[in-house]
Amino acid sequence: MGFRDADRHTFYAGSPQLSADSSGSYESIDPSNGKPICKINNSSPKSIDAAIQSAQKAFPEWSSKPPIERARILQRAVALLREHNDNLARIETFDTGKPYSETSAVDIVTGADVLEYFANLVASGGLNGESFRLRPSASVYTSKEPLGVCAGIGAWNYPIQIALWKSAPCLAAGNCMVYKPSEFTPLHAEYLADVYRQAGVPDGVFNVVYGSGEVGAYLTKHPAIAKVSFTGQVSTGKKVAGAAAGEMKYVTMELGGKSPLVVLPDAEVDQAVDVAMMANFYSTGQVCTNGTRVFVPRVMKKSFESALLEKVKFVRPGDLFDMDTNFGPLSSKVHQDKVIRYIHHGIEQDKATLLCGGVEPPVNLPAGLKSGYWVQPTVFTDCKDDMTIVKEEIFGPVMTILTYDTIDEAITRANATELGLAAGVVGRDIDRCHDTIARLQAGITWVNTWGESPAEMAVGGWKQSGVGVENGRRGLEAWVRNKSTLVEMGGSVPTVFAKL
Ligand code: NDP
Repeated sequence: MGFRDADRHTFYAGSPQLSADSSGSYESIDPSNGKPICKINNSSPKSIDAAIQSAQKAFPEWSSKPPIERARILQRAVALLREHNDNLARIETFDTGKPYSETSAVDIVTGADVLEYFANLVASGGLNGESFRLRPSASVYTSKEPLGVCAGIGAWNYPIQIALWKSAPCLAAGNCMVYKPSEFTPLHAEYLADVYRQAGVPDGVFNVVYGSGEVGAYLTKHPAIAKVSFTGQVSTGKKVAGAAAGEMKYVTMELGGKSPLVVLPDAEVDQAVDVAMMANFYSTGQVCTNGTRVFVPRVMKKSFESALLEKVKFVRPGDLFDMDTNFGPLSSKVHQDKVIRYIHHGIEQDKATLLCGGVEPPVNLPAGLKSGYWVQPTVFTDCKDDMTIVKEEIFGPVMTILTYDTIDEAITRANATELGLAAGVVGRDIDRCHDTIARLQAGITWVNTWGESPAEMAVGGWKQSGVGVENGRRGLEAWVRNKSTLVEMGGSVPTVFAKL
């Protein structure tokens, strides 16, 4: 697929704007081989202002459409996303380095599902308020009002999915959005804007600005932005939430994690290893909810490790468009360097035992891919809770195995972190699984599986892993504000200003 050096700069009022107003440019890189794909122009403050103004202009008409009409338009976008799934998946593969076997089955599919879910939800009364009789002469009704112009700021690991998880409830609720993709994975944004335009979303309802953190910071502080929905690192999230709080803006924060997977003593070893593999190596470990701290009963350690070593052989890096490839490179050079630094640290400073993997790229990569940002699936064992590789989010394919003696001990240690994004258990006794889940401090949890996040399921982190949720019914509430109205119908108006 050829990508033009288009004026990827700012999209508003339904079309790309010319790059005359851009502030510099950067290259988008194919992570599988390190080669440039195309040039992106940064949005200047002037063009960000123009995108926001375009959204402000579109807001009155879009927000006053009956929800069922907005839903009808968004359903057309769902159909277009599904029709163009393979093409969009190819773009995501070029941009992120994720194998096509993943992007064609997950990234657009789960984004389109969420758009369908929120379109259906608003069409079927999801934005209805409530009414009740307060007393014979008075009643109260509530309404859910859109917030206005909202900012979406995305991370690079699931670009189009993140863009859809933000824009779907935002637009369905009647808001307009100015969206900034990560500078590392910007390609999807133009195509998503085009899908919305073709579906009939009016000009200015969905706008795109490009650039680095400065562009995100500009959006966050802009007085016309009512809400910031952010996905990214905890440290950036704190800056964004802090800046938004200064202007009393609404926020949703989807941040990082260091999630525990507790393998219970009665777990079937093969199943536990399958879950651990999904929780660590899917998307080359670049998943916020990854279960990177794997707590294994001491008596199971040996069998778990030998089954794991067997299954790691099924990880197949290679040509990203070969459907047998199930493991890609990391998404950028800077991220590859970071992950390799952590692996070095695990070996040299933490002195954990390296069970497999390491700092070298996978062997047998095709010649054309050797310059890409590859690492091997890496497993450390004999890990201790205070090791850096156990405490900090690496966001790569690096699993740490921690042994435990009692379930109480495993739960206490699993919770001993400032993060609380996800958690999971594997076990046969379902009562014990539920009990363990109930005691784990995390917002997204799984029993005997890992990673599935359907549209119906609200997801969001506890503790420093986030504020608010995305998806599910509660995900829509994050894009509206409440108005309560008390109506007096002919009774006496309570007043202290009556004549004496
Ligand atoms: P970053 O925090 O580095 O960046 C996220 C976005 O914020 C990017 O678009 C970035 O721009 C932008 N940004 C950077 N600085 C600012 C600022 N001061 N104000 C506003 N925006 C800013 O995260 P990554 O892109 O590295 O993403 C990986 C992280 O995202 C991991 O920690 C992961 O756990 C988390 N994540 C969380 C998810 C969740 O649902 N909880 C889901 C997916 C990822 P740019 O990069 O272009 O400079």
